[in-house]
Amino acid sequence: MFKWFNKIKRKNKKFTNPTGGVVRNDNYGFGHFGAPRTSNSSNRKTHNGTDYLAEADQEVRACISGKVSKIGYPYASDLQYRYVEITNDDGYSVRHFYVFPASDIDVGTKVKQGQAIGQCQNLAKKYRGMKNHVHVEIKKDGELLNPEGLINNYILSPDTLKGNHNLQNQIKKKYVPHK
Ligand SMILES: [Zn+2]
Repeated sequence: MFKWFNKIKRKNKKFTNPTGGVVRNDNYGFGHFGAPRTSNSSNRKTHNGTDYLAEADQEVRACISGKVSKIGYPYASDLQYRYVEITNDDGYSVRHFYVFPASDIDVGTKVKQGQAIGQCQNLAKKYRGMKNHVHVEIKKDGELLNPEGLINNYILSPDTLKGNHNLQNQIKKKYVPHK
């Protein structure tokens, strides 16, 4: 039934898309890695991760297998928001931002790639006009990487796709490899 699905999985990249959403694009800018960001200071900034669209409260999935190495606060001035960092033995660490950790997720917890680690928080409530998303930051041996080079654009799980014909069609159009 999902023959094309298996092809995509083999062909493509190795990390899981945490939300199943595409990369964010709204009034605040593009969610691509390296996209320009302004700040209050005169410093030019660029986006140091990739933002994947999500619905508030939806499940967020672990990009990689590993151990939860940190649960942190994206904003020192607003402690309701969290990020979950997972580190694996290959030297990768992935921070999943704006994720409220599930009750069984704590520092030291072992997680499997694709496992639900928490719920997407409502960032649109804080920044009017912004679309809810999970911001993903990936480092290997301390160096920032472009998540789009590592993450599949969609959650490639038959469970997720089952019954979701719009998503299936989107993926078929975009990702079935030509023979
Ligand atoms: Zn971001």
